[in-house]
Amino acid sequence: MYTTSSILEVLTSVKVSVSDPKSEIQQLEYDSRKVRQGEKSLFFALKGLRDGHLFIEDAYRKGVRNFVVSDRGLDADTYVGANFIWVEDTLVALQKLAAFHREQFMIPVVGITGSNGKTIVKEWLHQLLSVDRRCYQSPKSYNSQLGVALALWEIQQEHEIALVEAGISTSGEMERLTQMIRPTIGVLTSLGTAHADGFDSKEQKFAEKWQLFEYAHTIVAPSDAVMSGFLDERCYLWGQSPEDKVYVQSLEPQANHTLAHIRVEGVSHTLTIPFIDKASVDNVLTCVTVLSALGYAISMIQERIAGLRPLEMRLQLKKGKNDCSIIDDSYSNDLVSLQIALDFVQQQNQHPYKSLIITDFIGSKWNDKFKSKLVSLLNAVSFQKIILVGESIQQIAGDLHAKVHSFTHTEDILSALSALDFAHETILIKGARKFGLERLGQLLVQKTHDTVLEINLKSIEYNLLQYRQRIPSGTKLMAMVKAFSYGSGSFEVANILQFNKVDYLTVAFVDEGVELRQGGIRLPIMVLSPHEDTFEDLLSFRLEPEIYSLRILRAFIAFLDDRSVDDYPVHIKLDTGMHRLGFMPEEWEEACTILKSTLRVKVKSVFSHLVGAGNKDFDDFTDRQVNLFRQEADQLEKALDYTVVKHICNTNGIVHRPADHMDMVRLGIGLYGIDTSGKGLGLQEVGMLKTTVTQLRHLPAGETVGYDRSGILHRQSKIATVKIGYADGYDRRLGNGVGKMAIGGHIVSTVGNVCMDMCMLDVTDIDVVEGQEVVVFPDIVQAAKDIGTIPYELLTGISSRVKRVYYYE
Ligand SMILES: *Cc1c(COP(=O)(O)O)cnc(C)c1O
Repeated sequence: MYTTSSILEVLTSVKVSVSDPKSEIQQLEYDSRKVRQGEKSLFFALKGLRDGHLFIEDAYRKGVRNFVVSDRGLDADTYVGANFIWVEDTLVALQKLAAFHREQFMIPVVGITGSNGKTIVKEWLHQLLSVDRRCYQSPKSYNSQLGVALALWEIQQEHEIALVEAGISTSGEMERLTQMIRPTIGVLTSLGTAHADGFDSKEQKFAEKWQLFEYAHTIVAPSDAVMSGFLDERCYLWGQSPEDKVYVQSLEPQANHTLAHIRVEGVSHTLTIPFIDKASVDNVLTCVTVLSALGYAISMIQERIAGLRPLEMRLQLKKGKNDCSIIDDSYSNDLVSLQIALDFVQQQNQHPYKSLIITDFIGSKWNDKFKSKLVSLLNAVSFQKIILVGESIQQIAGDLHAKVHSFTHTEDILSALSALDFAHETILIKGARKFGLERLGQLLVQKTHDTVLEINLKSIEYNLLQYRQRIPSGTKLMAMVKAFSYGSGSFEVANILQFNKVDYLTVAFVDEGVELRQGGIRLPIMVLSPHEDTFEDLLSFRLEPEIYSLRILRAFIAFLDDRSVDDYPVHIKLDTGMHRLGFMPEEWEEACTILKSTLRVKVKSVFSHLVGAGNKDFDDFTDRQVNLFRQEADQLEKALDYTVVKHICNTNGIVHRPADHMDMVRLGIGLYGIDTSGKGLGLQEVGMLKTTVTQLRHLPAGETVGYDRSGILHRQSKIATVKIGYADGYDRRLGNGVGKMAIGGHIVSTVGNVCMDMCMLDVTDIDVVEGQEVVVFPDIVQAAKDIGTIPYELLTGISSRVKRVYYYE
């Protein structure tokens, strides 16, 4: 057990203020929004993208009494009864504590790194080893400087082996991870190409990754990835060379599995690997080699790998039947991944009702501490129903605040499903893999057709932070969620933005705003083009109109007169050069006079829109727009006698016009991962449009593909039909070789005309199987260029019949 004083012994403090040295510490926290058991938490004020010191007050309010901070100026006296430890660098301190905790365990610690496959190898090893050992694995994507520290903290006394993933993106990072994890067994999954991530050369990248194994006694890796200077007696390799410990003599692909003929210690074996794609086969061979290094007999390994399944490792949010939202996380169950899933549930406000389906925990020992932690986690979310599946999980039934239903086996709940009456609610499905809750997920989720747009909500958060960093902390941020969030969906995206405390949301039309309100969005919402017919809805759903002409201004005031409403918030749009909507300079005098003389509306903000903020050629024009705007906005403020929020910058304006951020900025396309600034902002991709190969056929030279015989084959060809056409938003101009898609990492071209619901790809040069996944826009910026449009059009053109699947990764 840790207390404030035992933690003080571990950390190098520069100053302390401790009133209760015996205060018990169980949890480490860094995000005040996620604090649950405040009184047993130690809060690290990290200097990340947002300074954690700003959230100390919030954490204190949630009961936290122990803080690690670095700001000397912080006044501890304002927090009665709290303990403060000052250090030079709070992240370093957190890592130091994690390293100390890890040192308490003499168990094997497997450190996994590599360019691809580390998460899947970790998950598979967990599945393979949990059969006979209590196995800890770092959760999901906890592989960064912060993530690894938090993951190590969760290793408990009962664990017999720990699997920890280490990810690095630039040189110099691995050293710190190594000192924390100190793997006894190292695993390198793959190396990948050199320039894919921040390294100068393949050698540099390899050397950096290899550092993780400094203290390891055994290193598992594919022999072809290991650079010759690094080979030593610790290496336990697999590959095509007879010297390899696991010597892969040949691989024989079958219809749905691969036969691997291997030799281990001079004895030949045949493994049945339940996959055919190269990446999965490689990852299985890595797992086989780790198990062999741990001393498992090949016969036993053989038996266990036959049961491996591809992992759907994301927390997915899907549309369910009966207007439910399903959050599917049915492949693992441990406290940390449960915590992540619960955080996600709390961000989702589209339904007031929330339910949980949860199974036994595998690989965790039930004791009072575990039980009380689990109960307090679950009770912190206001679930209406909790459905317990399994035997040991029933122990908590009496302690839960929700209505509890109990089932021993997954089959029992499957047959009782209709009686549970799921409707209009958010359902979290959280279960250990062996319970096979994905069957339940399939029953609850609405069927999707083959083409989906996957939206990574975490990337939206990340992109938001990139822009937040570029604006001063006092400047407000308005997020544009018009046009179905540039194609990405409505309340799912708005929920994430609300959770991340943007100041305003903006939609194009009133009905979009209504949908957000019905989805539980409480933020102020501006509507760009309100029509007279929709004023009633504006009022009932507290939506704030953009007022863009004298006509609409008069009409709205008359409407408010009729309803006797005062001080209704509005936003005034000025036309400074866009010539779309907005008051022209010649109308401005009159508009100001009307606004000054009415009590019906209250001007919340005044704004204008830049025509070409990112384009140097238009700098003079942009200057003129800004100057005119400033002048007119001043005029309005003088007339009104109160201050109003002024804003003019869109995404490109945020980057290129830092002097013109004013009181608020309006972030649009950048949020969705598209960088039009030309500055390489390193945004994360948000949406990925995917489809599958429906059919493959081999055709001789001279045949043609598709309507009007435009796809002439000049050689013997292999053609794949995929289920996406112009009715899905795949532009017809992308036909006949213009459009590129990616299959298994290979780029292929369209052939022939794009049809309404399908199109065809030339896959002659690559290995493909029917049913394989296809990424439709591997490079959406380039695709837009190729057909003479802009990414905005491609994104918003993805038809609403294409299902959106959300995940948080
Ligand atoms: C769409 C829109 C934005 C956002 O533009 P981006 O280029 O996507 O950042 C900002 N302001 C107004 C008025 C808009 O209509």
